[in-house]
Amino acid sequence: MKRRDFIKKAGVGALAAGAAMGAVPAMADKPVMWKMVTTWPPHFPILGEGADYIAKLVEEMSGGKFKISVYGAGELVPAMGVFDAVSQGTVEMGHGAAYYWSGKAPAAQFFAAVPFGFNAQSQNSWVTSGGGLELWEEIYKPFNLKPYLGGNTGVQMGGWFNKEIKSVDDLKGLKMRIPGLGGQVLAKAGGNAILVAAGEIYTNLERGVIDATEWVGPFHDLTIGLHKVAKFYYYPGWHEPGTTLEAMVNINAYEKLSPEFKAILDTAIARANSLMLAQFEARNNDDLNELVTKHKVQLKKFPDDVLKQLKVYANEVLEEMAAKDPMSKKVYESFKSFRSKIYEWNKTSEEPYQQFKYI
Ligand code: CA
Repeated sequence: MKRRDFIKKAGVGALAAGAAMGAVPAMADKPVMWKMVTTWPPHFPILGEGADYIAKLVEEMSGGKFKISVYGAGELVPAMGVFDAVSQGTVEMGHGAAYYWSGKAPAAQFFAAVPFGFNAQSQNSWVTSGGGLELWEEIYKPFNLKPYLGGNTGVQMGGWFNKEIKSVDDLKGLKMRIPGLGGQVLAKAGGNAILVAAGEIYTNLERGVIDATEWVGPFHDLTIGLHKVAKFYYYPGWHEPGTTLEAMVNINAYEKLSPEFKAILDTAIARANSLMLAQFEARNNDDLNELVTKHKVQLKKFPDDVLKQLKVYANEVLEEMAAKDPMSKKVYESFKSFRSKIYEWNKTSEEPYQQFKYI
């Protein structure tokens, strides 16, 4: 009897809860409609597709009650206008990479790519579980933005050159397309870092406006045909060892969402974050093979001495940045402290395993 009472009550309770949940913005209400602007050309492989994927998941998980229209660079706002558009609430959401906003918040660069910094695994670990996200939120809050990890390229390639890089001196006077902190490191080596939008890299290299360029990795580099305008393909991508892509959401828009829709959005972005890295990792080797075997690209590793010196310069760049900007100092401290912890663990975990991985 008591048991039956309990089941009856529980049943009534569940029905009541169901009715309450159904009453949120569902059924009769109009769907929530958002816009997402991105720094990528429309539906750009992996990157733009990742933004599309977030919208698709949100729509599916919400049963069509929460829809996001995705816009490529230039469709609604230019690539470099994404931050302002989301910050000002012109649109609710954006997708890009945090180093594009270094002029607004230098410390944001720690959440995109640090030369000789974290790989994707350590970056995900620092941001989600090592205090990084709280700092990133602190940087973006004055702009009314909420940041998310929104994908990762994995270790990029070092770039395309038409001359061999045998010593650091070979970088002197070199005009290279290389973004962010990596560009500052190149400048310390005597090179000229030049900003070139994705769509202009090929022609700039072809016409000699730049002598060298980096872009992403085999999959994307093959897509834009960089092997047709450069001979040597260098690795590793010391300047972008695990470039983090980001999703950003206008805080006011986020606060208006129901708890269910917040959870749906958070979950969709997290899923896209891991999917994009998986896609890069799955595709790159086939495309590298194609570049080398079919297109006869000369694959080269930067000499150890070059990498060592670039690392010295990279540390100088980070120290100088921390000395100039208090927020960068705060983030750099967290970054360094997590780095010593994760590297210590890696000595016991990843490294001994790496040594035997290829046997
Ligand atoms: Ca790059």
